[in-house]
Amino acid sequence: MKYTVKELLDLGEDGKFAVPAFNIYNFGSLMGIRKAALETGAPVIFQVYTRLFDTGTAKFLMPAILEVVNDLKTPAAIHLDHGRGVPEVLRAVRYGTTGVMIDASTLPFEENVAATKAVVDIAKEVGISVEGEIGHVGAASNGDECGNYTEVDMASEFVRQTGVDAIAVMVGTAHGKYKKAPVLAIDRIAGIHAATKAHLVLHGGSGVPEDQIRAAVQAGIRKVNYATDVCCAFIEGYKKLDPYSEPFDVLLSHPADDVKEYAVSRIRLLGADRYGK
Ligand SMILES: [Zn+2]
Repeated sequence: MKYTVKELLDLGEDGKFAVPAFNIYNFGSLMGIRKAALETGAPVIFQVYTRLFDTGTAKFLMPAILEVVNDLKTPAAIHLDHGRGVPEVLRAVRYGTTGVMIDASTLPFEENVAATKAVVDIAKEVGISVEGEIGHVGAASNGDECGNYTEVDMASEFVRQTGVDAIAVMVGTAHGKYKKAPVLAIDRIAGIHAATKAHLVLHGGSGVPEDQIRAAVQAGIRKVNYATDVCCAFIEGYKKLDPYSEPFDVLLSHPADDVKEYAVSRIRLLGADRYGK
């Protein structure tokens, strides 16, 4: 059942859980996440990188994602991950996303506000949700998880000036594979959560220790992004295949099932399987 991203995150706020956002790369990863949603009954976000729109993949993958979301009996949303600006956002809206991220987090505060507000104005007209980013979430390969945390006052001012539904915050995570387990700023999450009504988003969820994820959700994180480990689950499963053992379609259902197993474990970790129970 198609929901906006904000509607899903509102469910998370009500039930004190976080909604997982899984990046979808191909048909196999889509089938894996679909099965995880069916098995758990949890609300999930199917998330697509801007890159997939750049390369043309999304043109063909998005109709399949839409079909899956419409077919599910449980709440689901489709979200653009790390949109660069209005052209990318419009493209995603045209293919049916119910939420978009505008990431202008490397720009100075006023420019980030202006770029994000421009997207919020468009999104309001078409009834979809917007995630901005305040404080920059960098790359684990650079050790960026040890960088500057998002300031509480700056986050609340950013939400006030832009009207965004959700904000990605820098609280000790980074994108990609961590060299050592990250340490999250749980107090900072709680501080930002208390200071703003916008939902808080944790990027770089792959590889964060489970106890820290639980503490982050308890402190107010309502969306956790999983990308790197979705890829790992699929590729590791793929490596084990014997190409002559089964027909190709049957063969490729196995790494999709590995993605499902991974997704089910993250859904349970975030408490999203409690939805409706
Ligand atoms: Zn991200």
